[in-house]
Amino acid sequence: MELGIGVDVGGTWVRAALGDRNGKILRKESKFVNARGNELFLGQLEEMIRQVGGEDLPQVTGIGIGLAGRLDLGKGKLVFSPHSSLRDIEVCEPLERRLGKSVTLLNDNVAAALAESVIGGGVGQRNLVYVGIGTGIGGGAIIDGRILLGKDGNAHEMGHMTIDPEGKLECACGGRGHWEAYTSGSGLPNFAKLLAQEYRERTLLLDQLKDRGIVAKDIFTAARLGDEFAALVVEESAKLNAIAFANLTNLYDPSVIIVGGSVAINNKEFVVDPMEDRLAKLSFNSPPKVKITPLGEESSLLGAILSNFSDIHIRV
Ligand SMILES: [Zn+2]
Repeated sequence: MELGIGVDVGGTWVRAALGDRNGKILRKESKFVNARGNELFLGQLEEMIRQVGGEDLPQVTGIGIGLAGRLDLGKGKLVFSPHSSLRDIEVCEPLERRLGKSVTLLNDNVAAALAESVIGGGVGQRNLVYVGIGTGIGGGAIIDGRILLGKDGNAHEMGHMTIDPEGKLECACGGRGHWEAYTSGSGLPNFAKLLAQEYRERTLLLDQLKDRGIVAKDIFTAARLGDEFAALVVEESAKLNAIAFANLTNLYDPSVIIVGGSVAINNKEFVVDPMEDRLAKLSFNSPPKVKITPLGEESSLLGAILSNFSDIHIRV
């Protein structure tokens, strides 16, 4: 049986797993990202790869690493990660030297798009877009059966498209008015504060926001309990998401948009379900289906495993 190792590096967690080409995971590890220095971070990746590889490591086909952030695939490095302090790290060459295995680097959401296409919500589709709405917003596009990468491997940084020309909110990347700054898990509390400035009623969520601050989960919980301010935040957020989804539809012309990420997975009725109808009114191109990932929060990790197998291999 052909086995590969996948590593998924998010803003907070590193997950590593040994798996096969059908997405079956045999061993898995999760740890907090060690962002105290490039050398320590690479050491952490090596240790986790050795742990999940175990006695199978010599037989493993390769190692796929999905990283959140701006990449330079030509040099095999991570340039910048908005949600951690990781900067300017060469990943492929040092790990290949230490482990004696080929290392494939790709964006974590591109890895997710790959997994959706091979074993997830996009099986049989030649044109699909994956959107991950979690701490940040990222995505990947497989168009005409090929993964779009661009000159450095960042063809799909949809979370940083401008959806507010006034740039009222600052993004984790330092830019202003970016999609991620409004409707991601890290953006929603700031978006709620912005909307609160114009809101004249009093609600429980607003009191909470003023007293001790809120996180994204509080907004959705309050919306489920009928809080009117929470309903407004969720509605305004859906409007912006629909604009962004329409832009993606016009740019990529996909048959399906698959949505993952913790915010979407845990709040499907607010984040994913309203998209198809809204999108149909906004897009120029014929609208795609919009559906939640069937792979849960594993899609990036699974895609990193799958990137090792030759017939679904990706290189710049
Ligand atoms: Zn940004």
